[in-house]
Parts: sequence; structure tokens; C-alpha cells
Amino acid sequence: MRQKVIAGNWKMHKTNPEAIRLVTQLRKYMEKTPPRKTRVIVCPPFTALSVVHEAIKGSKIQLGAQNMFWEEEGAFTGEISPRMIKSTGAKYVIIGHSERRRYFKEDEHTINRKIHLALKNKLKVIHCIGETLEEREQNLTQDIIINQIEWGLKNITPEQMKNIIIAYEPVWAIGTGKTATPEQAQEVHAFVREMLNTIIGQNVGDRVTILYGGSVKPENAAGLLAQPDVDGALVGGACLEARSFFKIIQASEQV
Ligand code: PEP
Repeated sequence: MRQKVIAGNWKMHKTNPEAIRLVTQLRKYMEKTPPRKTRVIVCPPFTALSVVHEAIKGSKIQLGAQNMFWEEEGAFTGEISPRMIKSTGAKYVIIGHSERRRYFKEDEHTINRKIHLALKNKLKVIHCIGETLEEREQNLTQDIIINQIEWGLKNITPEQMKNIIIAYEPVWAIGTGKTATPEQAQEVHAFVREMLNTIIGQNVGDRVTILYGGSVKPENAAGLLAQPDVDGALVGGACLEARSFFKIIQASEQV
């Protein structure tokens, strides 16, 4: 049985005092109505990881970072290593988010290096994949997914896949208000599982948690989460407010 996961990607939002307020409010909601089957992860900016870690101590909320560098240490001004992330108390790291691919030109090769290094440092990975609008319109969605699995997850073993969550995030649905329909999401999620089984083997696709991301909100979460191959959501905009993020967690509890 795959566990439900709701993860929030705060992107470049929230100062430290704002971050503490948001997560303290979320904690209150979760203590009042504890989720029974949903793992909840928050991914604040690097600057807020330590204070958020402090604020969630003793709660069921888990902590993740939004990115990391592909080297262990060295002269890489402005970058953050997996060991630094671990030292804040974070257990997860998002890798390959479409905004990293778009604005920082991350490709499958750098993503693959980051995934290997994250796992080596005992961080669990939330690996983002997904096609752009042009790619979808040219019927290339499946080719893009195959490429992202083949190269982004190159030399990843079935054993290592236990520490990887996949997030299918169609780029055309991120921050645009356009959501994939539940059927569109289901179709790609089922395809991702099939490809993971083929490319990585040992039926890993059947076991791996696959989140949907792209304008998930309290109003559309239930329909998406009810799909058999949608195990949860990676939420951007709607996680910046505790109430709407908690409503999405509740939607996950109800399916
Ligand atoms: C994201 O950034 O991962 C995301 C899904 O954003 P939004 O929910 O705002 O589309």
C-alpha cells in the first residue's frame, strides 16, 4: 500500500518570522485534526529550514529543501550542499523542479548527479518531471517522461527508489491556475509507473509514490487525489496559507 503524501513547495516566499507563523498555524490545524494516513512535508527556502525545524519539533510535519548543489563541498559561491541541508534537520530535497530547469538551465545530467548525491547523504528525494505546453501540444508527453526517467534516474537501483518520490508536474499547470484534469493526471501517472517498471525494473513503478503538482487547490484536490495512481500532491501557491494547505491534507485523508 502506497502512502499518501502532501508536500508544500514554498518557493521564494516567507521570511523567517512569516515561516514560523505559517508552520505554527499548520501545526495547530494538524494537532486538532491529525491526519491518519497522509505524510505532510513542508519545503521552505534554505534560510528558513532551521527555524521551521525548531517550530515543527514533536509534530508530524516533516521538512524538506527545494534544491541542493551536485558537489559535496568546495568553492561554489552561493550554493548549498546536501550535508548543510541535513544539518538543519531536513530529510527531503526537491530535485529537478521545472523552475530550476527553466531559470537555471538544469538538465537531466545535473539532476541525475544531484539525485545520486542526495541519496548518498541520506536525503530522500522528490524528483520532479513533466512536459511543457509545447511538448504536450506536439504529443511529446510520453517521450519527455521516458527521457526524464531514463537520464534523470540513470544508474538508480530499485533499492534506491525506496527513497525517491516522483512528482509529475506538467509545466503548463504550474502557477498558471490551469490544472490537469484528474483523467489527464491519471493517464500520465499510470504511464510513469509502467516506464519505471520497464526502465528501472523489479516492479518499482508499482511501489513508488507519485505526486501530482500544478495548481492544486482545496477545490480541485479531491478529484485529483481520487485517481488510483495519484498518491498525493506537490503544492505551490496553495501551501502558502495554512488553511488552504490543510484543506488539501484533509482531501487526501478522505480518499
Ligand atoms: C510547484 O511549484 O511545485 C507547484 C505545483 O506550484 P503551483 O501549485 O503554484 O502550481
